[in-house]
Amino acid sequence: MRQKVDTGYFGSFGGRFVPETLIHALEELEENYERYREDPEFVEELEQLARDFVGRPTPFMFAGRLTRKWGGANVWFKREDLAHTGAHKINNALGQILLADRMGKQRIIAETGAGQHGVATATVAALYGKECVVYMGEEDIRRQAPNVVRMKLLGTEVRPVTTGARTLKDATSEAIRDWVTNVEDTHYIIGSVVGPAPYPRIVRDLQSVIGKEIETQARERFGADPDAVVACVGGGSNAIGAFHTFVGREGVRLIGVEAAGRGIETGEHGASLTEGKPGVLHGNLSYVLQTDGGQIREAHSISAGLDYPSVGPEHAYLKDEGFAEYVNVTDDEALEGFKACSRLEGIIPALETSHAIFHAEKVAKELGPGKNLVINISGRGDKDVAVAAEALGVDAQESEEVSGDG
Ligand SMILES: *Cc1c(COP(=O)(O)O)cnc(C)c1O
Repeated sequence: MRQKVDTGYFGSFGGRFVPETLIHALEELEENYERYREDPEFVEELEQLARDFVGRPTPFMFAGRLTRKWGGANVWFKREDLAHTGAHKINNALGQILLADRMGKQRIIAETGAGQHGVATATVAALYGKECVVYMGEEDIRRQAPNVVRMKLLGTEVRPVTTGARTLKDATSEAIRDWVTNVEDTHYIIGSVVGPAPYPRIVRDLQSVIGKEIETQARERFGADPDAVVACVGGGSNAIGAFHTFVGREGVRLIGVEAAGRGIETGEHGASLTEGKPGVLHGNLSYVLQTDGGQIREAHSISAGLDYPSVGPEHAYLKDEGFAEYVNVTDDEALEGFKACSRLEGIIPALETSHAIFHAEKVAKELGPGKNLVINISGRGDKDVAVAAEALGVDAQESEEVSGDG
């Protein structure tokens, strides 16, 4: 039942650079995806769970106080932070568990950085009664402890990864190693629009529900397409999800925000699209942070979810073709965005999302009053309160003067 499928490339990026043992599994996944993506029963099950389990469609909110403070375009929030488990990751995990179930795979593995993908995967594994193992770098286990506990409570085994910088790249490498060994009974739920084909396309399709809802909600609320959509970019799944519907559409600026970490000039950042060169990491060709000798460089970001030295191949293509713009925001600037959103809108955003919020101020001012800007609020900040409190000098035991505005 093999059907004609696309090449797995976005322009010259993407592909399938994996050990031979995985080729069969990737072909199996591709065939099943082609078969089920338009299967009415599959679509019905996915739509029903998206509604009843995830809570879709997520709200579309006018951010009135930020709009007034910035004095530019109307600012709208797409509230993926209100999706079940607190981020957009569940959209992808849910679709993939349905596929794994159809393929008869009883064991699920995943990698996680911020822990949000690990939690989403642990959640859908519980829902479908699957055994689940999540690989996570030791550094991220420290930064995102609440999510580690959530995964364990959901019945998932969290395996600490102690190689490299002990973050997302290293966890991904371990997950791939596991998959090579256990490919017969195991499905690897990859967490972003990265990895070998067909993953970047499957994850993009599953996340594109975000942009479809934005399109409908924007027409309901202000009768037009947004003038700009801004989203943070780690691997790039929430951004592609928000952008996909609008790619190539006249008058809609698509802006991806990467992590500039401690500053681009320090070399400690996660800005693969700005500073990377074409290379292969985790099975696909994309922009990769690398040394002159072609070794992968360690990324850095205050947010674990943006702390990755590459980016999904479709973003590399969108950048090179000029379909989307990519900028970067430092740790300190992201903390400013975090504070502004918390104090002006009553929403504590994820540190990843805070990068997009900080940059949105510039875009709102460029666009000017009367225009409409959408920020994809990719996740909520519960997981980040310890890191943010430390960085912002907030102490539970100390009394401090609190002002109304941030
Ligand atoms: C994982 C995560 C990200 C980064 O991943 P993308 O694939 O780039 O979306 C961004 N925001 C939140 C809240 C996350 O959990």
